[in-house]
Amino acid sequence: MSNRQQSNHLASNQEEKGPYDSAQPNTTDKKPPKAIALLSGGLDSSLAVRMMLEQGVEVEAVAIKTPFCDFDCGKGCGHRVKEVAEELGIELKTVYFGEDYLRMLKRPKHGYGSGMNPCIDCRVMMYSAAKERMEKTGADFVITGEVLFQRPMSQNYHALEIIENEAGMAGKVLRPLSAKHLAPTNAEKNGLISRENLGEIRGRSRKGQIELARHFNISNPPNAAGGCLLTDPAFAKRVKDLMSHTGDDQIPTINDVELLKVGRHFRLSNSAKLIVGRNRDENEVINALASGTDVFFEAKDHPGPLGILRLGTASYDTEIALRSARIVLRYSDAPKDIESDVKVTREKNTSIVRVFPEHDVKIEAMRI
Ligand code: SF4
Repeated sequence: MSNRQQSNHLASNQEEKGPYDSAQPNTTDKKPPKAIALLSGGLDSSLAVRMMLEQGVEVEAVAIKTPFCDFDCGKGCGHRVKEVAEELGIELKTVYFGEDYLRMLKRPKHGYGSGMNPCIDCRVMMYSAAKERMEKTGADFVITGEVLFQRPMSQNYHALEIIENEAGMAGKVLRPLSAKHLAPTNAEKNGLISRENLGEIRGRSRKGQIELARHFNISNPPNAAGGCLLTDPAFAKRVKDLMSHTGDDQIPTINDVELLKVGRHFRLSNSAKLIVGRNRDENEVINALASGTDVFFEAKDHPGPLGILRLGTASYDTEIALRSARIVLRYSDAPKDIESDVKVTREKNTSIVRVFPEHDVKIEAMRI
């Protein structure tokens, strides 16, 4: 269904029920207003789009992918963003944040939330990407699914203002779900949008969204998105460790970040880390992510995981090799009270070391 058909379809729903049923599609302008939506694939941003389509606004979406989050703030919901855009009948453009994001994450101007989530700086980047699209396509404004006070760090009056201003988007970002609690945007002041038909949802309760979903005949609205990986305490600990062991004027690689998502991690020195798979799938991912300078460890005669030693600027020596071998052996099926062989492969040369498995107490002290 095209954007325009969808718009008409949604507009026809307004006759059925609900608190938003007075919405009137924009029929007066020859050219409908156009908005760029930051679409996450979760419920809130898709409701924001539906509200705009219902008002006769032409909508195009931008989805953001960061190294830590498939799209926007939804843990995993990003997998649905293409489907959601199709359901809505709107065009979708995906924007990838890579090294720029890591540079920001190293020293976010507005700090971190409860984990390593730099939500304010992150949203500034997202708004900026939407702004770029807005300018390129000649759109009039940007919409988001943000709900006032839903997220403590980035969805309060002060934070929303900072984000808008730093992205150079003051007055140009409409949050349809909470608009009545916020100052009128340019689109409302210029009559492109009827403020009267915008939402007044706030807080963490999902009641308003469920009601709105019902209005749009969405039978099984998804649960609230769970937040990106940077808000996960265990993962945040790994990110913090990585950042603090990367030189002041350097950033980690995307490959370093991808590795954080798999296996058990052990800090062996200021620069060196060992990553050990937890199952066959993780072993495969670790193997695929390994670089030519990583050193591989595997128990020789017992089933067990793959471990890779990432040295960074550390030099390879016997001590670090034996330590890595002991840890990898600990997670294999080798007996705990006798020495066993571990295969060590470095630059395609394989050798064997014979070690005892590492003690759990020592392991825990190194674990990230
Ligand atoms: S939770 Fe915060 S850091 Fe993560 S994607 Fe959302 S705004 Fe960005």
